[in-house]
Formats: sequence, C-alpha cells, structure tokens
Amino acid sequence: MPGFEAIGDEEKMSVLSIFDEGNGVLFRHGFDSLRGSSHKVREFETMFSRTLGIPDALAVSSGSAALRVALAALQIGPGDEVITQSFTFVATVEAIVEAGATPVIVEVDHTLNMDPLDLREKISSRTKAIIPVHMLGTPADLESIMAIASEFSLPIIEDTAWGCGGSLRGKPLGTFGDFGCFSFDFAKTITTGEGGMVIARESERLSRAKAWHDHGHENNPLVPRWEDTRSSSGFNFRMSELQGAVGLAQIAKLHEIVSRQRYVHASLVEEIAPIKGVCLRKEPEGSRATHDALIFSVPSPLQAKLIRQLLVERSIGTTKILPEAISWHFAGSWDHIDMLRRSHPRLESAFPKSREILARSVSLPISILDDGSSHKAISGIVQEVLQD
Ligand SMILES: *Cc1c(COP(=O)(O)O)cnc(C)c1O
Repeated sequence: MPGFEAIGDEEKMSVLSIFDEGNGVLFRHGFDSLRGSSHKVREFETMFSRTLGIPDALAVSSGSAALRVALAALQIGPGDEVITQSFTFVATVEAIVEAGATPVIVEVDHTLNMDPLDLREKISSRTKAIIPVHMLGTPADLESIMAIASEFSLPIIEDTAWGCGGSLRGKPLGTFGDFGCFSFDFAKTITTGEGGMVIARESERLSRAKAWHDHGHENNPLVPRWEDTRSSSGFNFRMSELQGAVGLAQIAKLHEIVSRQRYVHASLVEEIAPIKGVCLRKEPEGSRATHDALIFSVPSPLQAKLIRQLLVERSIGTTKILPEAISWHFAGSWDHIDMLRRSHPRLESAFPKSREILARSVSLPISILDDGSSHKAISGIVQEVLQD
C-alpha cells in the first residue's frame, strides 16, 4: 500500500506545474491555446505504457471504473455471466453488477487467487468473461486460467488493482489478458488519490474503451469535440489533470516502491517462515509479486485471530484484510448485493474452501518505511501463539 508513503515534493511540483505552465487547465481535452504543452493525463498514460513496455493505455477515474470500462468495451451486459474469485475487493463484483451482468464466483486455492479447477466447473453457456485478480500483488495462476479461457474462447480481464509493478515469467501483470485494469486509489502501490488505468491487448478494443469512458466521444481529430463522431454510448470515467499530475510523479517511483516492498517482505519472511506451523502463501512459478503484504496461514482460525489480537494489543503492528476484514474482501459476506444473492442463493455458506483458507490466514501489511525494528517482536508473537 505504500504509494502514499512515497508522496513528496515531486507530486506537489507536478500539480503546481499545471498552474504555473498550463494556466490551470484541468481537463484532458482541448483548451490548446490556454494550456500550452501541459497534458498531464496524456503524459501519465505515455509513461505508464512505457513502464509496462506496451503501446498505449487509458487513464480513468478509478480502478472500479477501469473494470466497468473494460466490461463495456467487451459489450457485456444483461443476461451475460462474468466469473471472478471469492477473495477480492467488492469493486470487482460491483463492476460486473453495474454492467448489468451476473457475477459468478469461483473459489480461491492456496495462492489465494482464482482456483483453476473450480473455474472450469463454473463456466456455462452464458459466461462472457473471466476476471482473475492478482490479490494483494501476488500473480494469479494465469497459465492455467488462460489455458481454460482459450479452450472456451473467453476473454480475460486481469484485475491488476494490486499488481502494478508485478510480473509473471518476466511479463508485467496486466499485459496477459485481453484487458488489464489498475487502481491508483490511496491504498495501492502507486496512487493518484483516486484513479485507474485500462490497458488492452488489441488497440481496437482500447479505442472502444476510450470512447466509452468519455460519453462515446471518439475524439476524431477531423472535427471539433462538439461535433465529434460516435459509435457507442458511454459514460464519464475521465481522469482529471490533477490526478494525472500526481500519477506522473508516482509512476517514476514505481520501481523504487516495489523494490523496497520486496526487500521488506523478504526480511520479514526470513523471520517468520522458519516458525513451525507457518505456511507461506503459495505463488505460481515465475512470480515476481509486488509484495504489498506478507500472507501466511496457521493451523487454526483461532490462532490467526490471536496473532492479530496480540499485534494490536502490544502496538507492534496490525494485520491487513486477513483474518479480520474479510467482510469487504470476501464474496460470501456480500449479502447487500442483490444480484450476487440471486446468482448464489446460499451465499452465507457458499465458497467453503475459500472460507476455510481465509479464516486461517494472516496478512501483514508491508510498509516501505519499515526499518525492520519490529520484525523480531512480530515473529515472537507468531511463535508464542503457535507453540501452544
Ligand atoms: C482497489 C481495488 C479495486 C478498485 O479500485 P478503486 O480505485 O478503489 O476503485 C478493484 N479491485 C481490487 C482487487 C481492488 O483491490
């Protein structure tokens, strides 16, 4: 989560330059004579693309918007089913519901990401897309998931909200699927306060996404914007120049942030992994996780809760999402979403395999400001709880 920990003068100067050099133009389009060469969102898209080694990207107003826009570009709507996983942030399912489609939820395995075996079980004749999530920055088993997707000719939207800067077998997360969707909210690897990015393997699909996120505007260079051509409906999910300016400063820090997270994660793993009863989250072969959190499971749910309780009581640290906060990050808890209750009538007892794993898991947040001074105390607590 450390994008916010890296905010400094660079972000501030970048925002000020909109006013100093760009006459305060806050809209990504037009106002050419007023703005001079100030194009923050456009430059952020260029820098982001360059960082991932891809030709193009579309900045949007949030990670949730990124998912919604990708679904729209795939023309997914009522009557269609979209598959995602039980352990994710509520936004993944909300985007499916907002598209008018039916969310279908797959169990997670010990990677805490989509279980490919259950995925195969859940595909129906109405399935129109699969959204695997790189939850908390650990790559999903894309090799297996993509093999199944291609067998059924289904598009993949990677929910890369946590995976910015991660890779699998040397290829950046987000670039495997038909679409990759990133979040820059305040808890993500890099942040623009609120913001997101959409990338697509085919440029024609990205063009559809660009139009849809901007009321259907094709931004045809041959006509002024008010006479613009259009071939689909849309909505407004544009990123503002203020967010773009912050994004430009943050994308320059991505490498440093992720390197630091990996370093802190590795030194904490050294302390915790040798403890008897600790089982580290499984990662697919060739993973380069962003290591936003260190996740491990313990033999019982009670032990997981106790570890959390002692960390908080002794003010040594806290846990992140697991085991305590699965309410916002586990589909079995979302009985407030009508569409989900309809597609999964026994929601309160659904996804037993995920429930079992998540309840025994502990997730320690990784901070880039961590100097390691609390690591011994953290491992001491884990040891204390597990030796009983
Ligand atoms: C954060 C997040 C989102 C949504 O991103 P926002 O920018 O907060 O809208 C989507 N999916 C997952 C897995 C997330 O963690």
